[in-house]
Amino acid sequence: MRKPFVAGNWKMNLNKLDSIELIEGLSQGLKDIDTEKVDIAVYPPFVYIDSVVNTAKSSPIAVGAQDFYFESNGAFTGEISTDMLKDVGCIHALCGHSERRHVLGESDELINKKVTAAILGGLLPTLCVGELLEERQAEKTEDIVINQVKKGLEGLAKEKVSAVTLAYEPVWAIGTGLTATPQQAQDVHAMIRKLIAELYDQQTADQMRIQYGGSVKPNNAEELFGKPDIDGFLVGGASLKAEDFKAIIAAVIK
Ligand code: PEP
Repeated sequence: MRKPFVAGNWKMNLNKLDSIELIEGLSQGLKDIDTEKVDIAVYPPFVYIDSVVNTAKSSPIAVGAQDFYFESNGAFTGEISTDMLKDVGCIHALCGHSERRHVLGESDELINKKVTAAILGGLLPTLCVGELLEERQAEKTEDIVINQVKKGLEGLAKEKVSAVTLAYEPVWAIGTGLTATPQQAQDVHAMIRKLIAELYDQQTADQMRIQYGGSVKPNNAEELFGKPDIDGFLVGGASLKAEDFKAIIAAVIK
């Protein structure tokens, strides 16, 4: 039985005070929910991680980073290492979010180095994959996602890959208000799980959590979560409001 995992990607939003208030509001709201049944994380901008970790201390909210560099230290101006993230209390890290792939130009090769570095550095990576609208329209979704998963996990042994969460996020559904239908999402999730069984084994596939992301809101979370291969959500916009994020978390433990 896979424990649901709901995470909020704040992207480049909020300020220090908003970040603290959001965590305070969310921690308060989560008191009415059985949070033993779900893993919860937020990914704030780097500069607010420290204060978010402190504010979230006695709550069930874990903190992660939206990105990092794969080297452990040295002359890499502007970059942040896994050691630094661990030092300020991060547990999770995103790798290959579609905005990093398509706005910042990250390649599958770089993303693979980051997934590997996260695991070696003791962080739990979430590898994000998903197709563009034109790729879906050209019926290339399966090829694109298979390639991203294979390349993202390349070289990782079975014992290491168990630290990874996958997030299927169709790019056309991110921040657009368009959501994949539960069946569209389920079809891709099931295909990813089958791929993991082929690359590793059935037990690894059965244990791997696959989040869905793309305009998840309180009004669609329950139906999406009703699908057997959807194990939680990676939430953007709706994670910026404590009430909405709490409602999405509540939808996975009903
Ligand atoms: C995301 O940032 O990963 C995301 C899914 O955003 P949104 O929920 O706003 O579509």
